[in-house]
Amino acid sequence: DERSILQYQITLYGDDERLVMARDITRLHRLEQMRRDFVANVSHELRTPLTVLSGYLETYGDLADQLPPRLGRGIEQMQDQTQRMQNLVNDLLLLSRLEIDQGGQDHQPLSVEQLLNSIRQDALALSHGKHAVHVVIESDAQLLGSEQEMRSAISNLAFNAVRYTPTGSQITLRWAAMVDGGACIEVEDDGDGIDPVHIPRLTERFYRVDKGRSTATGGTGLGLAIVKHVLLRHEAQLQVESHPEEGALFRCIFPANRLIQA
Ligand code: ADP
Repeated sequence: DERSILQYQITLYGDDERLVMARDITRLHRLEQMRRDFVANVSHELRTPLTVLSGYLETYGDLADQLPPRLGRGIEQMQDQTQRMQNLVNDLLLLSRLEIDQGGQDHQPLSVEQLLNSIRQDALALSHGKHAVHVVIESDAQLLGSEQEMRSAISNLAFNAVRYTPTGSQITLRWAAMVDGGACIEVEDDGDGIDPVHIPRLTERFYRVDKGRSTATGGTGLGLAIVKHVLLRHEAQLQVESHPEEGALFRCIFPANRLIQA
């Protein structure tokens, strides 16, 4: 007595003809669920050994000046790679958690101004002062959402703006009202931009415009996939506007029912 999942497609022909197609996607759905559970379990299991490894490496790193230089450099490399793996595992775990349920349990009124100011501090720390980061507040509405999820989504956008733009670039985090009663959080930079051919695929897992560069910047390839899923859970949409040499603009659009007006 297992429930089946059917997908319907209705096509209109003229005024009074309809073609209705039903597809049984039960098996597909189950396979997708198995994939998610598998990724979540593997990521979870990898966390403990990685923590042990990075603990030992930290201890050896502290002794680097007593070690032969080649060994010291090797330990540094191992620390970098372990950190990369930890970032990857954390992002995979976060993404599979975001995919597993609809969310909404921890939604509360958020001050976007506070959120953006705190992300600005983190972005400045990541940039080591090589970028200017501005916060512009043009709406006094609060946003109904999950503080933790919104922080990880907007941080991903802001950190990308730091990682993919040259020294001296300007980054703006903006909270603005929209004409239809909604509001948006924008993350804009004046860096090298993205060729529009890549834009439709940016939120796919592990999609990178320039693989070598992304690996060097410490990204996991999952950042924008995480952004997309967080926004889905907030009934919001991601819009990307960019052209080569003209910077990039990532706009997260929230509908009016997500806002609490002051
Ligand atoms: P990654 O971990 O590689 O940063 P993301 O999903 O966060 O993964 O981003 C996907 C790709 O989009 C990046 O590899 C980069 O090529 C491109 N990208 C993202 N943000 C920007 C930006 N502000 N400017 C230019 N390219 C960007």
